[in-house]
Amino acid sequence: MTSVYLDYNATALIRPEALEAMTRVLARTGNPSSVHAAGRGARALVEEARTDISALVGGPASTVVFTSGGTEANALAIDSAVATGAKRLIVSAIEHDSVLETAKASGAQVEYLPVDTHGVADLAWLKARLADWDPIDGKPFVALMLANNETGVIQPVLEASGLVRAADGWLHIDAVQAAGRIMTDSRALGADTLSVSAHKLGGPQGVGALTFGPRATLVRRQHGGGQERGRRAGTENVAGIVAFAAAAHAAMREAEPKAAWRDAAAARLKAEGAVIMGEGAPRLANTLCVAAPGQDAALQVMSLDLAGVMVSAGSACSSGKVKPSHVLAAMGLGDLAACAVRVSGGWATTEDDWTAFADAWSQIHSRFAARHGAPVVRHAANHDLGAPA
Ligand code: PLP
Repeated sequence: MTSVYLDYNATALIRPEALEAMTRVLARTGNPSSVHAAGRGARALVEEARTDISALVGGPASTVVFTSGGTEANALAIDSAVATGAKRLIVSAIEHDSVLETAKASGAQVEYLPVDTHGVADLAWLKARLADWDPIDGKPFVALMLANNETGVIQPVLEASGLVRAADGWLHIDAVQAAGRIMTDSRALGADTLSVSAHKLGGPQGVGALTFGPRATLVRRQHGGGQERGRRAGTENVAGIVAFAAAAHAAMREAEPKAAWRDAAAARLKAEGAVIMGEGAPRLANTLCVAAPGQDAALQVMSLDLAGVMVSAGSACSSGKVKPSHVLAAMGLGDLAACAVRVSGGWATTEDDWTAFADAWSQIHSRFAARHGAPVVRHAANHDLGAPA
C-alpha cells in the first residue's frame, strides 16, 4: 500500500544530516559543564551549534538559549515578560496552545488579537489597543506567530513590530513553523524574542531555542545549574542540539519550497467542492488546510490513513483526540472548522505525494457524496474566502 507522509507541521521526517549528527554525538560522552577534555569537547559542539542556530534566527550566538522545544521557548519568553513587569498580555487568537495556555497560566491578564477570515492578524485593532495602553499594566507584551501551524498563513509581524516598538513594548514571534521555510531573522523581523523548534525542520524532537534582543530580559523558569548563562538550568541535550544545527544548516541551504504541487492538488479538490482555508493570504508553500463541507475531519483523517496518506485534523493534539480548531473558529469559519484537514509537506515530499493525497481525497469525497448527496455549505464558500479586501 502507498505510504505518504504529509504531516510535517506535526513533525518533519528527520533529515539524514541530523540523524548522522545525532548518532555520532550520542556515541561520545562529556557534560558541557565539565572541565576535562570530554567536557570541553561537548562544550565546543554546543557552541558551534549555537553559532549555526544564530544564523537561522539572527543576532549573535550569545543570544541563543537552547530549550527542550518550541513549547519551552515560548514559555520562557512569556514568563520572562511577566517576571519583568508585564501585567497584561496581548496574544493573537491563532497562537499555538503553548502560547495561549502559558499566557493564561502566567497570572497576567490576557487579551486576544483578532484575525480576519483569511487568518491574518488585525493590526488596526492592535494599533488602537496599544494607543490606549495603561502604563499601570507594565510595558505591552504582544505574541504574534510568524506562520500559523494549521493554515500556514504568514502574519504581518514586521508591521506589528513597528506598532509594538512605538509603544515601547515586547514582541514575541513564534517562528516554529516558519523556520527553515521562510526567513526567520529576528532582527530583520523586529522581534524582541523569537522561538524555533528542531523537529519541524527535520531535526530531532525535544530541542528548540529562544533568541532575544537587547530590549528583552530573560528570567530563568527552572532552577539548578548555571547552564545557558543562567537562563535555562539543566544539562544540555548535546546530541539533540548538534542535530538541530545540522538540520537547520540543511534547511537553510535548500531553495525555498515551491507551492506548485500543493496548489495543483488544491485546485483539483476545489473543483470537487472543497474550501481552502487562508487562501486569500500569503501562506507557507508546504501547508494546505482544506475543508470538505459536511464531512467530519476526524473521519477524513482516518479514511486517508486507511488509504495510506497521513495528515492531521486541524492541529495534532497531544491527547490523540481531535478538538475543535481555535484557529479556524477565530477565522469565523463556523461549521467548516469541523470539516478541515491539514496537509503539510517538507524536505522529502515529492509531487507524487501530493498527487496521491489528491487521488485519495477525491475517492473518499466521491464515496461520501454517493452516500449523502451533495454537501450544503452554510457558513462560507470559496468565493467568500478569496483575496482580502
Ligand atoms: N509553536 C507552534 C506554531 C507549533 O506548531 C508547535 C508545535 O506544534 C509549537 C510551538 C511547539 O513546539 P514543540 O513541539 O517543539 O514543543
